[in-house]
Amino acid sequence: MSVRTTVRFHALIPAAGTGSRIGGETPKQYLPLAGKTMLCHAIAVLARAPDIATVFVVLAQGDALFAGCGAAELGDKVVPLYCGGVERRDSVYNGLVAMAGAVDADDWVLVHDAARPALPDAALARLIAEAGDDEVGGLLALPVADTLKRANDVGGTRRVASTAAREGLWQAQTPQMFRYGVLLAALADSGAAGVTDEAGAIERIGLAPRLVMGSSGNLKITYPDDMGVAERLLAGGGRP
Ligand code: C5P
Repeated sequence: MSVRTTVRFHALIPAAGTGSRIGGETPKQYLPLAGKTMLCHAIAVLARAPDIATVFVVLAQGDALFAGCGAAELGDKVVPLYCGGVERRDSVYNGLVAMAGAVDADDWVLVHDAARPALPDAALARLIAEAGDDEVGGLLALPVADTLKRANDVGGTRRVASTAAREGLWQAQTPQMFRYGVLLAALADSGAAGVTDEAGAIERIGLAPRLVMGSSGNLKITYPDDMGVAERLLAGGGRP
């Protein structure tokens, strides 16, 4: 029996959502963008990173679109798992459980949304270098640049109730990277806790994820207008 001494990096892409805010019949991750599906762009960035051993993709049970979406051409690092859940958190947790036989507790897992197809290679490399050197792990994020307003409904009209201090506030992006065993345990414990990202689950168990500088190019596609911005970014080679 051989004992492996090197720690590996694996990606996990939850892609089992319906993307209802963007409208239409086609699930958001399969919308076309600069010649490929959104999901193929997201997979491609992770699959071409030399440090990443496997790219697990969590799909809805009964997903009939993945097989024909071009992902097979992205190489044999890509492993589909048909075990999506009701919420994003459920899809990530089910994916982690399904990966169990292929990863070690100390391996790093980078969870990345299919809805962020323009992740720059440099931002991914930064996360692997900085969070991989950290005891806890970490996430890509950007310091909040805009002034923040708290809203109030006054007789059916939205008005400013107050201005919130933005000092020290960061916007979380993905990938978010943690040790497999720790992340699995943290998410197992977070079912009804309103946790919306992996870092939130890690924070709940008392650990402090490291913030690694993300990129404005790593935008999340939520509304129809976001598609044009992403299309231009991808066609122009992305942003660092
Ligand atoms: O809808 P939203 O863009 O916030 O979803 C973020 C990511 O989580 C997407 O990649 C989406 O496919 C995924 N997701 C999932 N399972 C769900 C809901 C969302 O894998 N039940």
